[in-house]
Amino acid sequence: MSPKSAKLDPCCSSSSNMLTVEQAIDYLLSKADIKPETEEVELKQALGRVLAEAQTSPVFVPPADNSAMDGYAVNTKDFTPGENTRLPISQRIPAGTMGKPLAAGTAARIFTGAPVPEDANAIVMQEHTDKDGDCVIVKSTPEAGDHVRRRGEDISSGDEVLTAGLKLRPQELGLAASVGIARLSVYRKLKIAIFSTGDELVTPGQPLKNGQIYNSNLYTITGMVQALNCDIVDLGTVPDDMESTKKVLKEAEASADIIITSGGVSVGEEDYVKAAIEELGSLDMWRVAMKPGKPLAFGRIGNTPFIGLPGNPVSVFVTFCLFARPYILKCQGMENVLPNKIPVVADFDWLKPGPRREFLRAHVEMDNGGNAKASIYPHQGSGVLSSVVWSNGLVEISNERPIKSGDMVDFIPFSEIFA
Ligand code: AMP
Ligand code: MG
Repeated sequence: MSPKSAKLDPCCSSSSNMLTVEQAIDYLLSKADIKPETEEVELKQALGRVLAEAQTSPVFVPPADNSAMDGYAVNTKDFTPGENTRLPISQRIPAGTMGKPLAAGTAARIFTGAPVPEDANAIVMQEHTDKDGDCVIVKSTPEAGDHVRRRGEDISSGDEVLTAGLKLRPQELGLAASVGIARLSVYRKLKIAIFSTGDELVTPGQPLKNGQIYNSNLYTITGMVQALNCDIVDLGTVPDDMESTKKVLKEAEASADIIITSGGVSVGEEDYVKAAIEELGSLDMWRVAMKPGKPLAFGRIGNTPFIGLPGNPVSVFVTFCLFARPYILKCQGMENVLPNKIPVVADFDWLKPGPRREFLRAHVEMDNGGNAKASIYPHQGSGVLSSVVWSNGLVEISNERPIKSGDMVDFIPFSEIFA
């Protein structure tokens, strides 16, 4: 079934005209075609950005054989196995200096990171020696290569050290620095326009009147977009009327790379987002066979893509994780955009699974036997945001598959999503 053929049919409540989660993700990713321009940034500004060009090393790391320990550089031919060996100390080599070739029958005092002198072939740890005036007594018999870090043992000159499409973490920045790269070519940050719709919504900090609720989705979405290192165009809360909805959508189109909204994409006559997008651009409305989350919209106004998330706060969180996140990551230029799932042991029963795939808010902990065990929040309603705060990930349950305590289930840790 193509996403087009799965247009929302409010009359049909069966799962037969719904997209599977995979179909929806595949379709979205096939449309994630806005690779932004690139820019060069200094390493210290590059955290969380996506690398646009593969990087090769211009140097060997380490650049020369060097000592892995504080101790003495020696030559193993000066040792007799099983005997203590007394050697005069002929030189001192701190890190950052070059020693002279090692005189035969002597030891060089050496420090961690200092280049191993010519004619030495091993390092003896300080802990295995005694000092005796100008001499050192070595109480072990070294073997050639002991405690020597070889030139290029980490990286050879010309090696590709970073592949394009990586999101840069502290360790990637450290690796780039270790080969002397000072600036990286990264994709420009995406600008994401967000707003929520609903006459009932009040901004936190204001008093709540009868019939009103606080707008939580705007804050959840803001946090998730920030966690993906995008810039935000915050268009706030939009009332349920056609004029306001069209006005804010035009503003969003003019100011951002992607538009993400919550609410207003169901089938009620107070849901204006769907109709407004259809007037201004094009829209696919889908029902995805999942719980929570069912209604999801994807469209365009001009060249600006639009993702309409549902209104219920838990549905917003889950659909953002499953659909908006990989879409944004792919648009950022990333290659691997789907979260890893981890098999864990269910510590709960789920005996009446529905016809849709379920994403249960779950907490996974190691038990005493070292097994990762998942418990689930007792109230799994799509408005119960406390369930998301309590949990550390989502347990994914296939439609129609009953789960008994002890069964294996797939777990998507939030640490995968917001790494
Ligand atoms: P809708 O899809 O607009 O019909 O919204 C579905 C449900 O989610 C309703 O109960 C709304 O009150 C609630 N809802 C919609 N938007 C928000 C929001 N921004 N914050 C909290 N709840 C919301
Ligand atoms: Mg609404």
